[in-house]
Amino acid sequence: MARIVVSGARPTGRQHLGNYHGALKNWLRLQDEHRCFFFVADWHALTTDWASPESVDENTIEMVLDWLAVGLDPERATLFRQSAVKEHAELALIFGMLTPVPWLERNPTYKEQREQLRDRDLSTFGFLGYPVLQAADILMYKAWAVPVGIDQAPHIELTREIARRFNATYRRIFPEPETLLTDAPKIVGTDGRKMSKSYDNAVYLTDAPDVVEAKLSRMVTDPRRARRTDPGEPNDCPAYLSFHRLYCTPDELRYQEQGCRTASIGCLECKQITIRHVQAELEPIRARRAALRPDDARGALAAGNARARTVAEQTMAEVRQAVGL
Ligand code: SF4
Repeated sequence: MARIVVSGARPTGRQHLGNYHGALKNWLRLQDEHRCFFFVADWHALTTDWASPESVDENTIEMVLDWLAVGLDPERATLFRQSAVKEHAELALIFGMLTPVPWLERNPTYKEQREQLRDRDLSTFGFLGYPVLQAADILMYKAWAVPVGIDQAPHIELTREIARRFNATYRRIFPEPETLLTDAPKIVGTDGRKMSKSYDNAVYLTDAPDVVEAKLSRMVTDPRRARRTDPGEPNDCPAYLSFHRLYCTPDELRYQEQGCRTASIGCLECKQITIRHVQAELEPIRARRAALRPDDARGALAAGNARARTVAEQTMAEVRQAVGL
């Protein structure tokens, strides 16, 4: 029997290279190997952006169009929208009954985000409880594994704890999902910080070739190379650490490293080698994306919602019976 993998992403709109290398490339591989449920976590978006939900729908469609453009196949993977499968809310409610508040308060992301996102009120029940909703998202499909980055691993542990407590209290329904640690390369933005829409430093999958060229040409490098004649150190260069190493061949890397350390090449020439590879990777994605229309995303989601709902209804029938409702 195919093993079940579940993963979701908040609706962030157009996808950038950070999303591509951080999750989507991995999803592409997983859809060939497992029975995958990939969902748009639109209720999760509300846990932090409850006061400004205007762009959730548009961002959902834009994101799913990019999913289709990179090659996620709605025939093979179930692509769905969390809020279209209301059973997630019911399961989260039941899990909420048995989840001790201290389990949620010790969640490192909860503390960090409350520190970082000071422009909004996160002292809400919904924000504290989002890992419970996440547990419902995952356990609804009896996932064998969840692909996550290392920073998300504590959430999966919490999901396992909730599954254990439910199984021990009522009846064994839920498997304890594995954490499928993704060894994704860390992609920084053009300013050297984490690539993010909110930092305005992202290279998008749908950026036109001249936009990609302009963005990567001005990406920060080793500050030692203020002048063309100043030697630099690739290991102190965000463009090298993030992009050159990911895209270039070993021969090209040797050329770039030596050229950088001896100042025999300038940063622009060095980056041009990488930019050619990035353009080659983005070209087919751009072409597929140009042929897609919003209705393609809506159609893929409608079919996926129906498939996800069928599984969710079965799980909830078991849950209600186990709990005695
Ligand atoms: S020459 Fe290349 S590796 Fe060196 S600082 Fe410039 S972009 Fe970075």
